[in-house]
Amino acid sequence: MAQKGEIIKISGPLVVAQDIPEARMFDVVRVGKEKLIGEILEIRSKNISIQVYENTGGLKPGEPVESEHYPLSVELGPGLLGNIYDGIQRPLTLIRTKTGDFIGRGVWISAIDRNKEWEFKPRVREEEKVIAGDILGTVQETELIEHRILVPIGIKGKIKKIHSGKAKVEDTIAIIETKEGEKNISMLQKWPVRKMRPYKKQLNPEEPLITGQRVIDTFFPIAKGGTACIPGPFGSGKTVVQHQLSKWANADIIVFTGCGERGNEMADVLREFPELKDPKSSKPLMQRTILIANTSNMPVAAREASIYTGITLAEYYRDMGYDVALMADSTSRWAEALREMSGRLEEIPGEEGYPAYLPSRLAEFYERAGKIICLGKDEREGSLSAIGSVSPPGGDLSEPVTQATLKVARVFWALVSELAYQRHFPAIHWLRSYSLYIDNLKNYFNKKVAPDWMELRNKAMALLQREDELAETVRLVGIDVLSSEDRIVMETARSIREDFLQQFAFDKIDTYSPVNKQYLMLKLIMEYHEECLGALKKGALLNDLISLSVREDIAKAKYIPSEEIEKRIKEITHKLKEEINKLIKEK
Ligand code: ADP
Repeated sequence: MAQKGEIIKISGPLVVAQDIPEARMFDVVRVGKEKLIGEILEIRSKNISIQVYENTGGLKPGEPVESEHYPLSVELGPGLLGNIYDGIQRPLTLIRTKTGDFIGRGVWISAIDRNKEWEFKPRVREEEKVIAGDILGTVQETELIEHRILVPIGIKGKIKKIHSGKAKVEDTIAIIETKEGEKNISMLQKWPVRKMRPYKKQLNPEEPLITGQRVIDTFFPIAKGGTACIPGPFGSGKTVVQHQLSKWANADIIVFTGCGERGNEMADVLREFPELKDPKSSKPLMQRTILIANTSNMPVAAREASIYTGITLAEYYRDMGYDVALMADSTSRWAEALREMSGRLEEIPGEEGYPAYLPSRLAEFYERAGKIICLGKDEREGSLSAIGSVSPPGGDLSEPVTQATLKVARVFWALVSELAYQRHFPAIHWLRSYSLYIDNLKNYFNKKVAPDWMELRNKAMALLQREDELAETVRLVGIDVLSSEDRIVMETARSIREDFLQQFAFDKIDTYSPVNKQYLMLKLIMEYHEECLGALKKGALLNDLISLSVREDIAKAKYIPSEEIEKRIKEITHKLKEEINKLIKEK
């Protein structure tokens, strides 16, 4: 048999070949004289369909195709953080220095620097028994993150030798005696991207991923290890939300996957992310971030891979015991790539031309999120939270990608253009969003923040709901028909929206609200509500209640530094009661 197969047909990113020796599904192949990178998608009798991740222009039938005999995989090891990769983990910055702005075809540069020396600090001793997932040692990958080198999956035995001190990623840092003989372990490992990395046990996500964004934490929280979906109409503030989450969420590691947004959006990410600072340490955020971006000369097919590359890298850090947040922007573009390939493979189309397996592929992606106990004897916990944006054409949420995503993601932050237009930021709509983690997280908030956290949140939500109903009446017959009580509802709801939900990302203080501050702010607003209703009963006049001077203080509470918040909220509450009592006495 020939050593190489042969191209039969080329159709955009799809290449059909024949006679590739030992061809297996999902194996990586090198296509044509230029050795373009592809992946086997389908084997149908003699014909082998290949998704090529590079531009196939100029490729001709008859050119050779060679299998690499391993599935599309990522390299794992120290040196990942701070990198910008493309969908198949080629380091973009390094490639640019080698081939210029446009990536030359067939270029392959290792994802992880082979020449860099790391200071390896062992955590095990010779003769010690180890199992997969045990920490062999650590290296300081960046100033912010310690990289833990784990016993690779599938390996179990006794440490015969362990290294200490300087080492490159390919150097042997441990020799493990296993039943199958001695294994040399280096810091560099490989993992097939389409395969979920194993863990010991899945845990219930019961701790919130705290973001410091009030509308998220108090109203629609996501759990560590949870999943969320965020639609991103143009100009609705999606980028700002993503930046805020990357900067402030209490995750240790951020993986940001741009699944090939065209034009400016990804360029913005590439330009802006490296400039962002980690607010807690003031070091560049990139020290705990990996970016995955597709360049514009890569075909759409490459988007498909990027989401798997991203989630595999995220799982790898989760396995070390970190809380990882993965952002995928946008899964709609990824779904379009699936649709394009499916069309070329002449599969039977499902809704709107998307393949029938779109929902299951999306589910497989989100199912890789979770809070887990990692492999290894020390039972450390890790989490992977997945936040995917969707870009429904024309904002139509009934389209297939959004619908399939809503079935699997447990939080929905409905970013809407109308709110952005009114400059209500973050433009997450309080009536259209939801979080299915509320019940799971209730105990955490009630215990760690305040026993009435949940009750307060629900009351505030109910007021907003009521405001919506009343607004309809006002539209029809005018505000004068409302009772004084209902007018107070309208006022409080407005205060919740403007003084609590609106949060200015560019203000030094308001950009991050600790949960305790969120609680006290909302409590103050609800206190105003109760006091007003009480005062009405005692004869106070509606107009006086609406124009109390303390309302100014309530509106400004968001700008109070968190260290002073308890004291200052107490003072404002005191002032509120005094002003109300004065109104009642005046009667
Ligand atoms: P998108 O990415 O959805 O097109 P952006 O995130 O770039 O939109 O937001 C558009 C503009 O809206 C920003 O330049 C900013 O002025 C404003 N904006 C969005 N979110 C906030 C926020 N939380 N605080 C203040 N301004 C915001």
